[in-house]
Amino acid sequence: MTIYLDASASTKIDNEVLIEMRPFIEEEYGNAGSMHTSGLKAAHALNLSRKKIKEILNVDEVIFTSSGTESINLALKGYALKNKSKGNHIITTKIEHHAVLDTLEYLEKNGFEITYLDVEENGIINPKKIKEAIKENTILISVMHANNEIGTIQPIKEISKIAKGNNIIFHTDACQAGNSESLKDLDVDMLSLNGSKIYGPKGIGILCKKNSIRLEPLIHGGGQENKLRSGTENIPNIIGLAKALDIAQNNIGEYKKLSTLRDYFIQELLKIENTILNGDKNNRLPNNVNITFLNVEGEAILLMLDEKGIQASSGSACTSNSLDPSHVILALGMPYEAAHGSIRFTLTKDTTKEDINYVLKEIPEIIKKLRGISPVNLTLEEIKNV
Ligand SMILES: *Cc1c(COP(=O)(O)O)cnc(C)c1O
Repeated sequence: MTIYLDASASTKIDNEVLIEMRPFIEEEYGNAGSMHTSGLKAAHALNLSRKKIKEILNVDEVIFTSSGTESINLALKGYALKNKSKGNHIITTKIEHHAVLDTLEYLEKNGFEITYLDVEENGIINPKKIKEAIKENTILISVMHANNEIGTIQPIKEISKIAKGNNIIFHTDACQAGNSESLKDLDVDMLSLNGSKIYGPKGIGILCKKNSIRLEPLIHGGGQENKLRSGTENIPNIIGLAKALDIAQNNIGEYKKLSTLRDYFIQELLKIENTILNGDKNNRLPNNVNITFLNVEGEAILLMLDEKGIQASSGSACTSNSLDPSHVILALGMPYEAAHGSIRFTLTKDTTKEDINYVLKEIPEIIKKLRGISPVNLTLEEIKNV
């Protein structure tokens, strides 16, 4: 038996998505730049997918990239490098995905000034802090829509208004938001999204932007994607992303019902001694449960869960090879020693109450075993006072 509770790392491709992709893997493999029937068919599919995404999100322009990470790199580096004559200051938060944080760190080494804002203890940014951080030379603000670790949802529309009022470009990383938040009419200047978190294919992303925004391309070559992203277009993945986004954005109401199961899961987990819910209780993704089990190592919990067929995550999948505690959990004010035992369970569209009950049966045993061999057994207050 396998119970997959890692939807924020990757989702299974929807069958309807797979059906639309398949002909373009098996039969219609022409290059969208070629001047023959197969090529034209590919180009037609590319145009249709782009048109569909533009309509779903009501955006001016869609650039296909190889991933969410590349979309974010293009947005941040592409904008900063092209517009440095306007200023060199960029504002973001401490809880962004590494695709944002590491890209901005790179810009910092190359002459840009970055402000990393603190979030409140519940993992939500206070828009007032953004307003206060704006300076004469601020050109760009980047704040994620939903956090990949603790699921908190940021006040994007409010931040967008602040940016607009100050003539600053606003980018949002919406990679985790596609299933539960309506992204239409979000009215941001740039938006990044990927296929793998919305029941679409991996290795495909989009950057949406307003026409007026000028970017410096990061990848040079054949001039595809309006010269902004060279390289042969991945037609099956592009078709898959468009279909997955269509399904996701048209089923938000249904998806949000997961919050009932989420809340039941959280309520039962918190009955275990010395556990803490990370992030906001209500203002979080309908499928996100992030719990700190004090005095145990997250990695040890994951291994024991996996033995029972339960797949979850500690921190984010991208950094789980490192033993450092999550930067997101630390940004919530959790002490270093306590941040190690954080586990993220992210429910899928197909997760059932039976699945959750099975996990709830196994977890207390695992925690008890691990705490039995732990050299310390402290409460959060005690850890804070050490
Ligand atoms: C997954 C994810 C990314 C990176 O997307 P890839 O397609 O894996 O490159 C960026 N930001 C957030 C919030 C994510 O969840």
